[in-house]
Amino acid sequence: MIKLAFNESKFIIPQELDCINELKELIIKNNLYLCNCGSTNYYWKNDKQVFECKSCNKRKSVKSFCNIMHNSNLKINLWLSVLHLHCIGCTPSKIKKILNHKKYSTIWDKVFLAKQAEKKYLKNRQYRPKDIDSQIQPLSNLSISKQVQFEQAFSSKKYISCDLYWRWFLQII
Ligand SMILES: [Zn+2]
Repeated sequence: MIKLAFNESKFIIPQELDCINELKELIIKNNLYLCNCGSTNYYWKNDKQVFECKSCNKRKSVKSFCNIMHNSNLKINLWLSVLHLHCIGCTPSKIKKILNHKKYSTIWDKVFLAKQAEKKYLKNRQYRPKDIDSQIQPLSNLSISKQVQFEQAFSSKKYISCDLYWRWFLQII
């Protein structure tokens, strides 16, 4: 399981393959797979790391399930890193430095998109029925960065699992 350090000086970029695996598990667990042709039956193609439709053979990456990143070339592990570092309070220029990323505009853009999506999410949240099953229910009316900061402040843990981030990416919180 991927664990991300709350302390930015201890932050390590997770492996892309681990990100794909964790997202894949959540997509399967929550029955999110649906092909454009209407089929919900798939194979997991291990060599390509994508879902493939059993009816029409169309392939679908795990990234395509995440609205915010499905049109972007940036890898999932970098999206996750940007979101996490943003949530623990790093500015875009600091995030660029930590990730040793070439382009400031890319990082700024992703932080901006995350903030926009967060606003939209909170607005939608007001009208959504309460999900009784969710373990994060008491905090679910907070923005993702507030939820992460809450975890950081009140848990004795040094690391956070990515569950909250994946759920946010997949819009299942
Ligand atoms: Zn299909």
